[in-house]
Amino acid sequence: MTIQWYPGHMAKAKRQVMEKLKLIDVVIELLDARLPFSSQNPMMDELVKDKPRLVLLNKKDLADPSVTEKWLRFFEKKAFQALAVDAQSGNGIKAIPSACQTLARDIMKKMTDKGMKPRPIRALIVGIPNVGKSSLINRLAKRHVAKTGDRPGVTKAQQWIKTGHGLELLDTPGILWPKFDDPLVGLKLAASGAIRDEILPKEEVALFAIDFLRRVYPERLKNRYTLQGLTGTNVEIMEAIGQKRGCLKAGASVDYGRISDIILNDLRSGKLGPISFETPEAVNKSHTVV
Ligand code: GDP
Repeated sequence: MTIQWYPGHMAKAKRQVMEKLKLIDVVIELLDARLPFSSQNPMMDELVKDKPRLVLLNKKDLADPSVTEKWLRFFEKKAFQALAVDAQSGNGIKAIPSACQTLARDIMKKMTDKGMKPRPIRALIVGIPNVGKSSLINRLAKRHVAKTGDRPGVTKAQQWIKTGHGLELLDTPGILWPKFDDPLVGLKLAASGAIRDEILPKEEVALFAIDFLRRVYPERLKNRYTLQGLTGTNVEIMEAIGQKRGCLKAGASVDYGRISDIILNDLRSGKLGPISFETPEAVNKSHTVV
C-alpha cells in the first residue's frame, strides 16, 4: 500500500491522531527495531506531549539483538518505557498490558481518588505505515479486527478492542508519515522495506545496502554471495554478485534491476541475518549516520 503524503494529507493525519489522543490514557508508539530513529514520525514528541508513552521496537526478529538492547537502554534513559516485540509471531507482546498499567498508574489513581470506578486502560497504537500496527492489534486482540493496509482518511465509528488484560485499544491505529527531509533516512526506510520500491530507484537502494553491509556486516555479505573479498566500488560488488547469481542480460552485462531485487529481498527477509540499520551512538552523533 502506498500513501501519498501531501501537505493536506499530513494535516489530516495529524488531526485524526490528535482527536484519538483525547480518548486514551497511553500512547503505544510502534517503531521498526531495525531503524528506530528513521521510522519515527518527526512530530511525535510534539503530538504526544505529556501523555504516557510506551515505545515498542517491532520486527525484533529482523533486527540485530545486541543493537536492539542498546536502543532499549537509549529509550529508557530518556524515561520512556520500551519493549522489543515481534508482532507477527506475538513474541514479547505479553509484557505490553502490564507496561501500560505501570504508565497509567497515576491517571488511574486520580480516578479512584475521585470515587470513580476503575476501568480498563485505553491505548492508541501509532506509527508510520508498514511498521506493524495492524499485526499488533490483531495479536493483542487475538482475533482479526484491523485490516492490514488501513488508510488514513477512512472514517468509521471508533471501537474499543478488549485485550483481556485490563487494557483496551482503539480499533484503528494512528497512521503518521515518516521523516522525508533526510535522504539517508529515506534510503534506510527503502532498504528495510518500510517504504515502497516505487519511491526511490531500487538500484540506488541496493547500492546503499551494499555500501552499508560492506561496512557494518562484511562477513555476511561475503558469505551470502560467496565473494572472495570486498574490494572495488559498490557497483563492482553489485556486478560480482550479479555474475554469481547469473543475473545477466544479452551480451553478458549484469541486469542491475534483477540483482537489486535479489539483494533487497534477501536483506528484508532476513536472509543476510538479523540487521540493524542504525545505532543510538551514531544517531546521537549526527542524527542519521549509520
Ligand atoms: P501497518 O501498516 O503498520 O498496519 O503494518 P502491518 O501490520 O500491515 O505490517 C506490515 C508488514 O510487516 C506485514 O507484511 C506484516 O506481516 C509484517 N510484520 C509486522 N510485524 C512484524 C514483525 O514483528 N516481524 C516481521 N518479520 N514482520 C512483521
